[in-house]
Amino acid sequence: MKRIAIIGGGISGLAAAYELEQQRSGAELEYVLYEASSQLGGVLRTEHIDGCVVEAGPDSFVTEKPWAADLCRDLGIGDQLIGSNDSDRKTYILTRGRLVEMPDGLMFMVPTKIVPTGLSPLFSWKTKLRMTQELFHPPRAVDHDESVAAFVERHYGAEMVDRLADPLLSGVYGGEAANLSVRAVLPRFAEMERTHGSLGRAMLAARKKMRGSPRKAAPPLFTSLKNGMQSLAETVVSRLRPTSLRTNAAVQAIQAEAGGWIVSAGMQSDYFDGVIVALPSLAAGNVLRMASSELSSELGAVQYSSSITVGLGYDQEVGQTLPPGFGFLVPRSEGRQLLAATFVHNKFPHRAPEDRALLRCFFAGGNADRVWELSEEQIVGIVRKELQEIVGLRAEPLFARVYKWRSAMAQYGVGHLERLERIERLRRLLPGLALAGNGYRGIGVPDCVRSGREAARELVKS
Ligand SMILES: Cc1cc2nc3c(=O)[nH]c(=O)nc-3n(C[C@H](O)[C@H](O)[C@H](O)COP(=O)(O)OP(=O)(O)OC[C@H]3O[C@@H](n4cnc5c(N)ncnc54)[C@H](O)[C@@H]3O)c2cc1C
Repeated sequence: MKRIAIIGGGISGLAAAYELEQQRSGAELEYVLYEASSQLGGVLRTEHIDGCVVEAGPDSFVTEKPWAADLCRDLGIGDQLIGSNDSDRKTYILTRGRLVEMPDGLMFMVPTKIVPTGLSPLFSWKTKLRMTQELFHPPRAVDHDESVAAFVERHYGAEMVDRLADPLLSGVYGGEAANLSVRAVLPRFAEMERTHGSLGRAMLAARKKMRGSPRKAAPPLFTSLKNGMQSLAETVVSRLRPTSLRTNAAVQAIQAEAGGWIVSAGMQSDYFDGVIVALPSLAAGNVLRMASSELSSELGAVQYSSSITVGLGYDQEVGQTLPPGFGFLVPRSEGRQLLAATFVHNKFPHRAPEDRALLRCFFAGGNADRVWELSEEQIVGIVRKELQEIVGLRAEPLFARVYKWRSAMAQYGVGHLERLERIERLRRLLPGLALAGNGYRGIGVPDCVRSGREAARELVKS
């Protein structure tokens, strides 16, 4: 009988457990999942308040990455998948205190339509000129990694970093463009530069190619679940054996011994043939301290940032006073605490009843750290003040919830891919060890699901 331990009961660990459960039928296999808290699902947490579906952690995932939706279909809840209301998609950027709509045709920060970008008040004439010049950027064989900020600035100038690249990335990684690796975070753009030089030309070439292929309706940009993201975790849990799940069981250490692994949690130690460490890499480094100090310090060097989401429910009239669209992003240069606000009732169906408006506000990185110690009332107070100043929202919310996530979002710093190579080399020196989670090759839910399932398959095969 092969015994495998999974450390961490977030979606990465749950996906690993589900995969092992699937493989159990043909193989002599047993697994135990250890979760430090009392609840499985990690940051996938949903509250149902006053008819609204309030997401404490992730609210959706990008449709382009198939692994989370595939898992839903495998679980038999494919009919629960919902897409974002892209026909109403409009995102605003706070620019000198005013909300300015992102112009049509922007692919991340690359303009693909001349007229809307040319007319947009989002950019100065200097940046618009840079966009034209960018079309002549020569192909470049870059031999080193660099920050997203440096990369974008080389192509479009500093204003593009401030107005678009940084706010867009803050929403995903909770980090700053100046600290994130272009190769790890925007590999497609790094490749475009290598092959085409100009990102604008590369995008136009890709669009031209697509025009030649049969036209399919574009899938929605974001996917979520009708009853919220937590329902994904709950459905996975319902397919696992309860006797394999140990909650309130924080693992202190794992150690290689006699060709297998000893897992120590509380006063108990147990022997396994393999271990999947499905923790944020910072926490993974801690439990692996005794197994390999070198691996432990490489894992510990992946930076994490903290984030806070605030859910606010209002009467429907509020929804009518807000600008149409999905919400707004706030560049750091605007000097606000908020980084983003989503008008959830517009972005997704099934999130708020007809007579309600639901907002989700977001702080991360330094902005989250600055307000971390404040009480929930004080944080809600800051959010309300900034919403009043930005969108004129004065109404009293019907409910307000604050969710704090300490060091939950990985920051792929410059040199991240090289660090992953070192981590992989060190891991291979420890047979029976697999790593999954958001510290490696994708922070989003789909990549976490993929990493968990791949880790499980690897250990079953080994
Ligand atoms: C606020 C927020 C918003 C996000 N928004 C999105 C989004 O919209 N779309 C998207 O795709 N992604 C989003 N993400 C990212 C994504 O949700 C996470 O990267 C992903 O869910 C992480 O899953 P995980 O299982 O790897 O880690 P976690 O969910 O962090 O789970 C790790 C688990 O390990 C447990 N644990 C820790 N130490 C130990 C130990 N020693 N022993 C046992 N158990 C331990 C923890 O209690 C936790 O339950 C967001 C993240 C946050 C925080």
